[in-house]
Amino acid sequence: MRNKLIVLLIFVAGLGIGFAASDAYQVSVNGHPSKIQVEKDKETLLVPITLPAAGENDQFTVTLHRDDTAKKVDVKIESPKLKLRGATDCYYCTGNGMCANDYPPGSGRNYSNLTDGGCNGTGRCYHCSGTGKL
Ligand SMILES: [Zn+2]
Ligand SMILES: [Zn+2]
Repeated sequence: MRNKLIVLLIFVAGLGIGFAASDAYQVSVNGHPSKIQVEKDKETLLVPITLPAAGENDQFTVTLHRDDTAKKVDVKIESPKLKLRGATDCYYCTGNGMCANDYPPGSGRNYSNLTDGGCNGTGRCYHCSGTGKL
């Protein structure tokens, strides 16, 4: 009886995943797959992106590439600041490149199992773009 219940649960979970994947767009941020959920408003896709305001003035260039055939949205977030990269280990992620806000680290989800905005659901440390170096 117990085995049957487990099998049934897996089957239902599998159906859920299959349904979501057929209709949902896969988002990638700076080349990293993201857990971001895209909403559709008629023909427009709404992509929730988090941008960190660390200083008084921050500048970002956000580029969206939507591919309806592949059902994906590639997001590119560029900041002039992030190009200043040295050989110092990133102290936000202790140099491993994984988002420290995530649970578990690098999963792209927070403690409540929701998409983590800090890393835009990519699981990559946004301070060093997942390189581990600042
Ligand atoms: Zn994160
Ligand atoms: Zn880092």
